[in-house]
Order: sequence, then structure tokens, then C-alpha cells
Amino acid sequence: MNSATPRVIVEGVAVSPDHLIGGARVSSATTFEDRSPLDWSWKLADVARGDAGTADAAVTAADDAFPGWADLAPSGRAEHLHRLADLIDAHNDEIAIVETVDMGMLLESMRQRLVARGAINFRTYADLAATYEERHWTSKGTTNTVQRMPAGPAVIVTPWNAPFMLSTWKVAPALAAGNTVVLKPAEWSPLSCSLLADLTVEAGFPPGVFNLVQGIGEEVGPPLVGDPRVKRISFTGSPETARHIGRSAAENIVPFTAELGGKGPLIVFADADLDAAARKAAGQYDDSGQVCLAGTRILVQSSVHDEFVKTFHQHIDAHVLGDSRDPATTIAPMIHPDHVARVEGFIERALANGDTIVRGGHRIDDTLHIEPTLIEPASNDSEVVQHEVFGPVLTLQRFADEDEAVELANSTAYGLSAIVYTSSQERAQRVGRALRTGIVWVNTFLVRDLTAPFGGVGISGIGREGGDYALDFHSDLKTLQILEGSTS
Ligand code: NAD
Repeated sequence: MNSATPRVIVEGVAVSPDHLIGGARVSSATTFEDRSPLDWSWKLADVARGDAGTADAAVTAADDAFPGWADLAPSGRAEHLHRLADLIDAHNDEIAIVETVDMGMLLESMRQRLVARGAINFRTYADLAATYEERHWTSKGTTNTVQRMPAGPAVIVTPWNAPFMLSTWKVAPALAAGNTVVLKPAEWSPLSCSLLADLTVEAGFPPGVFNLVQGIGEEVGPPLVGDPRVKRISFTGSPETARHIGRSAAENIVPFTAELGGKGPLIVFADADLDAAARKAAGQYDDSGQVCLAGTRILVQSSVHDEFVKTFHQHIDAHVLGDSRDPATTIAPMIHPDHVARVEGFIERALANGDTIVRGGHRIDDTLHIEPTLIEPASNDSEVVQHEVFGPVLTLQRFADEDEAVELANSTAYGLSAIVYTSSQERAQRVGRALRTGIVWVNTFLVRDLTAPFGGVGISGIGREGGDYALDFHSDLKTLQILEGSTS
């Protein structure tokens, strides 16, 4: 590890390309290139390429800082988290523009939704941890109390889509619970988390409480998640990477939570507000479909199929592909040429499989855009139905009745989220219960109560985030049992 390198200027914002370890910026002997999806010839930064030594230094810093941070009362930790939340709000524009040019997401969406949510994540967990009420009861002649003990250093690994929001969503409960953190963001969009690191310093977090390690997942990831001093591993990303990390967690017997991919159904019943459903269906192309929660399998009741599809096309026609900084743009480019090629591979294989490309399917020259693509699969077994594409590709299938809708919806190995459009309260309850996903939205999408559990079924994940679920995950729960009348 070397001393800090100069900051790079990204859209007027000074961003460190280095790690943050023990409160100090440190570089690595080698770097990796970070380019902008808005213009692939635009190199944003040469970012520090962490290795096993970097991982060791970061976990050491987190381990050293742990006793002091864990000893702080939850209300003391909450003060830090609230200061950080205020700083995120104060720097919203800078974080938003940096992540927009780094990851590609629409600038307005960044400002209003994702960066703002980062601040809310810290406030929510500051308050939840500080107001935690220990559970007390008596049984078998003893008084029982459930206490939360901070667990130790936590390694948090996050994906390239929505890196700032997703990282804060995981870092906030870890810090609130009294754990120290090593955050490893994805190598395709590493810069906004560097701004988060700056703000933790400005907010006065003691050195080592929050550490940032940059680098390539396969290189710096394994030594981080395999370090036996790490007491929690919290991961968001693909099922493939989760399997690797899960093996390390098993080796060290460390609790591991994984928020993974999705293949959500968007089910439109004949009794639904069809225009609202069609608008929401077309909205699944937002962020070029690089959204784990997206309803990418459109399932429509046969009796309203043609009417729905006509309106659906009209809403798709209204989309504007362009530069994510332009307020007129509604579909951002994709993150990386390799990812574009991966998505093109799905489309080529769909054609070869006999699936019908109803619209789209082509890359826009000299950009990282693929047209909004709609595919009618040859069968429910088609790859494009069964596997997460993570691009602007939706499938369209029809169903006869409620039973078939539920059967199709539950027919993949994923189970992250589902969207249902119906005007029937009874159907909403019935179908909602029958769907095997971590969340079901009825007549809406992406509305979140942060105290609710969040996570996936099947290969969409292990464990639950949100509310007390994440605080319990980051704690060692203990029952204190005292013989009644034996103490005064
Ligand atoms: P990925 O699994 O390729 O990478 C995720 C992170 O893991 C990156 O930081 C990467 O550097 C790191 N990594 C890679 N190999 C590693 C290893 N061997 N050890 C430790 N770390 C390693 O995923 P991605 O392509 O960045 O993200 C897209 C995926 O994330 C999609 O499947 C998407 O659905 C999913 N996702 C899920 C949620 C959710 O909340 N469920 C949210 C966003 C994205």
C-alpha cells in the first residue's frame, strides 16, 4: 500500500480513487480503469486495485476500531449516523452527478430517489438501533432478557447498479448495530462510494470504523470475506458470486446474508386498471432493466391481452433513450460493453431458440443502449424466461386464469419480487399469499417501508434486510436469564 494519490475531478467533483483504511487514504501499486457508460471513450479514473495486503490492512483497521465503536451506546452511534445522513443530503448533487456518469443511471432519479434514500437509510437505522427495546419475560422461575451484542467487523460487498444506495442500505445497520465495516463496491462503478467514505470522515467517525476497499472482485474479494476476523458478511450481487462467498462464510462459520438476482413477474389480471398496468410494465425498462426488483416477465390474462399490449406499446414508444444527464431521457445506457454483449447474447439465443422478438433487440450504434426489447418466448422453459437478463429485455406471456398466473409466476428458481395488477382485494390477498417471493407489490412498485423485511426466496437470496431484521443479523443475540428472587 502506498500513500494517497491525487483526486480526480469528475463533473467538477473531486473524487479520491484510493481506498480508505483506518481513516487515511491509501493507494495500491496497481490500478484499474473506470470508464463512463455515457461515453465509453471517457476515462473517469484509474482506481486503486486492492489485493490481499489491502484486505488484511482494512480488516485490521476494522478489528482495531471495533471495541471502541461497540462500547459506544446506540444513541452515541446514532449521533454519528445522523451527522452522516445530513452530510449526504448536503452533498446530494455531487454524489448524484458522480454516480450518474459512473454508473449511467438517470440524474434526476439519482438525486430524488437514490441519494436521498442513502440519507434515509442512515436515519432509519440510527433511530431503530437507538430505540431498540430489549424483550423481557419471566418463565420457569427466571427473568429473561434478550440483548444485542455487536458482532465484530463486517465485510459488505455491493454490486454496480445503484452502488451508493445499496451500500448505504447495508452499511447503515452494520454501523448502527455496533459493528465496524469494510465496504467493497463493484469495480464498474466505484466512485460514489468513495464520496461516502469522505463523508464518514467529515461526520467524525473514529478511524477504522468505516473502511473502503476498491478492486476487482475476484482478486480482493476472497481475502476479505475469507478473513477469520470478519464476523459478518453482507452481500448484494449475483447468485454466482454468492456461491463463492458462501463457501468462505461456511469455512469460518460466519453469518452471511445475500441479496441476489430476480426474475420478477408482472401479472396483469383482466379486472386491472390496464393503462396503469401498461405504464408500469413499460417502466420496467427504466435504468435499462438493470434493476434486480424489476418485473421482467409480463404475464397478461388472455381476455385482455390485445388491449393491454396495444397500450403497453404506446408507453414503450414514449421512452427516450439518451444521455442520463438530460432530463428528457427516460432510459439510461447500460453499464459496460461486456454487459451489453452479455445481454445481446440472451437476445441471439432467444432467436435461435424460436422465441419471437416482438420489438427491439438491437444495440444503438456507438452507445451502450439496447432498444427496449420485448420477447414472446416459445415456451416457459426458454432461457430468457428462466434466467435473469439484467437488461432492457422483457418477456410477454399470457395466462387463462388465476391458477395459471400463479403457476407461471412461481416457475423460476428466483423469488425476489412480484408485481400484481388487479382491482380485486380478495384476489390481491389470495395471489399475494400464493406467490413465492420476498415482496409482492399490488398496483404499485418500489414503494418501500424500511422497517419491513426485504430479501429473496430461492436463488434470490438468503436472509432478510430491513428494520430489526438487519440489526438482528448484525448482532449476536443473547438471552440473559436470572433466577427470580436470587438477586436484589
Ligand atoms: P457480481 O456478483 O458480479 O458482483 C457483486 C460484487 O461482488 C462486486 O463488488 C464484485 O466485485 C464482488 N465480487 C465478485 N467476485 C467476488 C468474489 N469471488 N469474492 C468476493 N466478492 C466478489 O454482481 P453484479 O454484476 O455487480 O451485480 C448484478 C447482480 O446483483 C444481479 O444479479 C442483480 O440482480 C443483483 N442485485 C441484487 C439486489 C438485491 O437487493 N437483491 C440489488 C441489486 C443487484
